[in-house]
Amino acid sequence: MYFNENTILYFNNEFVKATEAKTGLFDQSLHYGYAVFEGLRSYATESGTKIFKPVEHFERLKFSCDSVGIPLAYNTQQMIDISYEVLAKNNLEDAYLRPLVFCPPNMSLQKASSSFLMITAWSWGAYLGDKLIRVMTSSFQRPNPKGFKIHAKISGHYVNSIMACQEAKDNGFDEALLLDINGNAAEGPGANLFIEKDGKLFTPPSTFILPGITRATVIEICAAIGIAVEEKTFTVDEIKNADSAFYCGTAAEIIGWQSIDDYVFPIAWDQSIGKIIQSAYKAKVLEQAFKLG
Ligand code: PMP
Repeated sequence: MYFNENTILYFNNEFVKATEAKTGLFDQSLHYGYAVFEGLRSYATESGTKIFKPVEHFERLKFSCDSVGIPLAYNTQQMIDISYEVLAKNNLEDAYLRPLVFCPPNMSLQKASSSFLMITAWSWGAYLGDKLIRVMTSSFQRPNPKGFKIHAKISGHYVNSIMACQEAKDNGFDEALLLDINGNAAEGPGANLFIEKDGKLFTPPSTFILPGITRATVIEICAAIGIAVEEKTFTVDEIKNADSAFYCGTAAEIIGWQSIDDYVFPIAWDQSIGKIIQSAYKAKVLEQAFKLG
């Protein structure tokens, strides 16, 4: 699914076959989750293959490295150029790109003095599918910002995401909603949350979440088409009094919620603000004009 015998990826200053790229069992990243990554999408637009918001993603990658002391030997433009080459070498247009920065053998708990950059890509449908999702309030909270650099995209943080996602699946749901350390709604295992109430959107402030690039894009879209949106802390009980809700993220794009726990949202998705945002987002990534109505 992620690679085959023809896949070419970028690893450590060269383009190599995925089947021939090797790393070590003593890498610090493998033992301690001490690595950072990104997830980007490219789209087949009328003017060719375009990666959506690559500068924002690679600047976040750099920020994530800086947050935990991982040196990164590449600048944003170099990583964008490499990404386009990976797409071209694999004949990919609509694709998901995965840059990963990881650290060489080291069993100590000191920061790394060098790192490896890997960039690969594959075709990937919408991460949470294209049907409305049934969400479960997780028993897992997002990591405490006093214990982790939660605004950085660190590999080890995703153990929290895996536990929450699996708990939801084990209980017959499609996806989890994690709360913050105060018990308020935070975000999904890999996506940000918006709810609709009385014609307005609300999203949790960035304090306890990874504030996504898609979340920022949704806020931009709202400004452009005149939809009111507010960053505000809210509880699960308030979600259960909302009209509709959706998750957003690079991999998931915009995906509507059918329900949370046993509460089904009263507004049909096609009538929701989320549906308008979903169409506007699609137009934006494809570099097409979007008109309301
Ligand atoms: N929250 C978490 C925990 C994530 O992993 C992601 C995916 N990177 C997001 C939110 C959405 O971020 P983005 O829109 O930048 O992909």
